[in-house]
Amino acid sequence: MDNKRIYLSLAQESGYEKKYIQRALKSNWITSGGPNVDEFEDELQDYFKNNKIVTASNSGTSAIHLALILLGVKTGDEVICQSMTFAASVNPVLYQNAYPIFVDSEIDTWNICPENLEIAIKDRIKKGKKPKAIIAVHLYGMPYKIDEVHSIADKYGIPIIEDSAEALGSSYKGKKCGSFGTFGILSFNGNKIITTSSGGALISSSKNIKEKAIFYATQSKDSAVDYQHSEIGYNYRMSNICAGIGLGQIKVLEENIHLRRDNHLFYIEIFKDIKNARLFNNPNDIFFSNYWLNTILLETKEERENLRLALDEANIESRPLWKPMHLQPIFEKYPYYGSKIAEELFEKGLCLPSGSNLTDADKCRIKEVIINFFK
Ligand SMILES: *Cc1c(COP(=O)(O)O)cnc(C)c1O
Repeated sequence: MDNKRIYLSLAQESGYEKKYIQRALKSNWITSGGPNVDEFEDELQDYFKNNKIVTASNSGTSAIHLALILLGVKTGDEVICQSMTFAASVNPVLYQNAYPIFVDSEIDTWNICPENLEIAIKDRIKKGKKPKAIIAVHLYGMPYKIDEVHSIADKYGIPIIEDSAEALGSSYKGKKCGSFGTFGILSFNGNKIITTSSGGALISSSKNIKEKAIFYATQSKDSAVDYQHSEIGYNYRMSNICAGIGLGQIKVLEENIHLRRDNHLFYIEIFKDIKNARLFNNPNDIFFSNYWLNTILLETKEERENLRLALDEANIESRPLWKPMHLQPIFEKYPYYGSKIAEELFEKGLCLPSGSNLTDADKCRIKEVIINFFK
């Protein structure tokens, strides 16, 4: 039997990409920005509707950085961030010499806990500084508790950056993730729902903001013929070649989401009779996850590690959940509000192969290892 490695989530070509890449090469738009970028942005805007304005960037991380700059986050400002996430959610806070404040998760969505969010906001205000922004994340594609989190943010007048890097195609009460925050961000990294090889997008609500985002993303050139700059600039615009890949990929976006959700049905079937592991599901039908990654919670850290090793032995990749930011050497000195939910998820949680290119043969191999492990 073919025993090649099965990965968590890999990029896959749709077959439509070459046409757009060749178009870029032939027309000599081999640079950042250009017709493919414009068209890719238009298609994303059609996808989001609700008058959302999309600015394509060279990564999800740079899109988050642009959002912070546009919100005026500066040296010494405080920015609240969900602790349970990938480091890219919060690194841009440090790029701005700002100060991250971490908040625990809650158990239904594994995302930012509304109660601890409000405790954190109140305490920071009491200590003298109102946070400048909140970075909330739809982890593994699962929407965070949008009504609760946004009503707290509104109460204190704090804008939200909605990190939708993993949640393209997820929705909450029928509305697409990425379209709720003052800013939404997407990632088109190779492991995400669709890829541009590397890329991202900033979702906002106004053309003026987009203009400003492009200004910062293209070296902050003043409108003068000679090279004049009055503000710090960045090289963050998406390349026209990458956007060509994106145009080929967006054709299979719905299909990819469908395949990811099919993988979830496959895991439901496996885990329905297993008592020692719980598959992470939508808490109720308000939430619609794209199931970017399927994740389970085991009873103990040891069991989690043993299952990981058993899968690895069969050449199947699985990984612990993201290590919470407040436990990271680079971030542990910053304040943290909450208890041990994120830590417990990190200890007992495991991500399983979930790519849209999992074959039936792959699924057989995965199922066999898991069923044998729990026997
Ligand atoms: C992937 C990811 C990012 C960063 O996106 P890049 O395109 O890789 O820079 C940010 N936040 C989360 C939660 C991610 O998973």
